[in-house]
Amino acid sequence: MKTIIEGFLNFQKEVYPERKALFHSLASSQNPKALFISCSDSRLVPELVTQQEPGQLFVIRNAGNIVPSFGPEPGGVSATIEYAVVALGVRDIIICGHSNCGAMGAIAKCQDMHSMPAVEHWLRYADAAKAVADNNEYPDEEHKVSAMVRENVIAQLNNIKTHPSVAVALRNNKIRLHGWVYDIESGEVQALDRGGKKFVSLAENPDTCFE
Ligand SMILES: [Zn+2]
Repeated sequence: MKTIIEGFLNFQKEVYPERKALFHSLASSQNPKALFISCSDSRLVPELVTQQEPGQLFVIRNAGNIVPSFGPEPGGVSATIEYAVVALGVRDIIICGHSNCGAMGAIAKCQDMHSMPAVEHWLRYADAAKAVADNNEYPDEEHKVSAMVRENVIAQLNNIKTHPSVAVALRNNKIRLHGWVYDIESGEVQALDRGGKKFVSLAENPDTCFE
């Protein structure tokens, strides 16, 4: 905790004065252009990877970058998506998984989650990805986890389309969906191509967009 408070004190003393104009301009409103949905993993920092300033990304983070399908009892993720699309009018939604994901690893390796019933329940929203991954063969567990990470991004992109606000925005060409996988070691991003059949290098294909 000490390093966190020291960090804040440094922010207040060194960073804030230099960026005062930005924070003043953001004091009464925000106008982010994108909704970024990622895993809570400490190694993936959306603003750092995309080099975005405060006010530019609206962010949802949870274990496994999961988006439950819309239903009669919408929860926090659903409400936050609806707010981003309807109230803020974001133009792009990025769902970003990452290498070595603990949540996807637990599913791929069928880990016993008895002591974490809430996690076990939450990860059921990745069942479609698990079914697809289980239907293939992999040389080792590491490859299976990587496949699970990718299939999960695809599954969550399908889930987000069940949200009424997203369905309407897609129909009216007001929004675009992006599926990314961030590699922690190399810093590279693989992006799902249009149609969702394969992941390609975002650096080499900067216009890649799933839908
Ligand atoms: Zn993760």
